[in-house]
Amino acid sequence: MTPKIQSVRGMNDILPDEAEFWERFEETIRSWLRSYAYRPIRLPIVEPTPLFKRAIGEVTDIVEKEMYSFIDSLNGEPLTLRPEGTAGCVRAVIQHNLIAQQPQRLYYMGQMFRHERPQKGRYRQFYQVGVEALGFPGPDIDAEQILMGARLWDDLGLDGIALQLNTLGQPAERARHRSDLISYFEQHSEMLDDDGRRRLYSNPLRILDSKNPALQELILGAPQLIDQLGAESLAHFEGVQQVLRDAGQPFEINPRLVRGLDYYNLTVFEWVSDRLGAQGTVCAGGRYDGLVQQLGGKPAPACGFAMGVERLIALIREAGGEAGAEPVDVYVVHQGQAASRLAARVAEGLRDQGIDVLFHCGGGSFKSQMKKADASGASFAVIIGDDEANAGEVTLKPLRPTGEQPNEQKRVSVDSVADEIMSSILDWEES
Ligand code: ATP
Ligand code: MG
Repeated sequence: MTPKIQSVRGMNDILPDEAEFWERFEETIRSWLRSYAYRPIRLPIVEPTPLFKRAIGEVTDIVEKEMYSFIDSLNGEPLTLRPEGTAGCVRAVIQHNLIAQQPQRLYYMGQMFRHERPQKGRYRQFYQVGVEALGFPGPDIDAEQILMGARLWDDLGLDGIALQLNTLGQPAERARHRSDLISYFEQHSEMLDDDGRRRLYSNPLRILDSKNPALQELILGAPQLIDQLGAESLAHFEGVQQVLRDAGQPFEINPRLVRGLDYYNLTVFEWVSDRLGAQGTVCAGGRYDGLVQQLGGKPAPACGFAMGVERLIALIREAGGEAGAEPVDVYVVHQGQAASRLAARVAEGLRDQGIDVLFHCGGGSFKSQMKKADASGASFAVIIGDDEANAGEVTLKPLRPTGEQPNEQKRVSVDSVADEIMSSILDWEES
């Protein structure tokens, strides 16, 4: 037997029952984003590798070990499957001069790729919704983006998602904190792990982000950035908190929240659920004022966040959201040559009126077709045999009677079947 080919490890198929659920989720996402005046942007999945090295930083988990990078065999160009969306979005904004006239609120959804160890809530191909505001100095926009999250959890019927907040200050403040950190960790270098020792001089801030339990006590005693912050950074942080307090949005300040990407400054935040185990962060973001310039654009402030779609869907499912087939309105049953030709025309005519139709293909007896019609979950069967075809009529049979609606089939003319169906659907919706 020919061996089967399987999907790549950590890259999942999303089958129809599940995919319909995803589409409903995406509709909620789109209308939520519209309600905050965000506009869509569609970006390539493959970008030049130097984009990510420059944007995310060389000494990060993503760039060091998680990127799917390859050389284009046709022209030798180094390319990478995008591990996140911000870098590509900023690249596009610069390339097309999008913020020359006015600031922009932008969003995208799609696949990201990271070579991680697959486990629940962590995949090698996963989906993110990314939300970016470019050209706004804040802190009003930072706070708006945070409150957007709260509204979405509400729209999705989710609770138990808590907000963590921190500030990373500005580069000069971080530089002072960094030298404090290096001397602190140098004094305790025997307690560091390999990663920690490797990062001691290249990226000591990332040691604070370590998940190694053996390091936690050391990390707790480390010097804090907040002690290095100047008046402006403190005012920005206070400005964000003020809006959150005014909105009654609870938050926890977590000084250890530093985020895995280099490009952040000032505000950083994460939304964390207590129901997903170790992979509890469903949304993460913050300000990245330096990135536009770092990628060759005219300096511009910016702020954004990304949500992990698989993790959110898992939460919705856990809260009782059901996946499953979405039934059509009408199943068309037909037999005989003339009948089948009429049936095909009737099906298109119904679709002209906005009615969803499943046209039976593959023949079979009336009885077996009716069984499939029942199982399809359709509201009506439209049945056409020789008899109906000769009379220019169809038999309309309600399959899903509710309330007063009699479960009786009737003959109606081909021209009136759409109206009959529409008015029954309206009656059902009213009752
Ligand atoms: P983590 O600490 O869990 O690795 P991260 O800091 O690498 O997360 P971000 O780069 O901030 O994650 O991505 C934003 C969101 O995307 C995360 O909060 C998470 O919900 C989701 N996400 C990140 N990596 C994965 C993955 N490998 N599989 C599924 N979702 C992911
Ligand atoms: Mg990660």
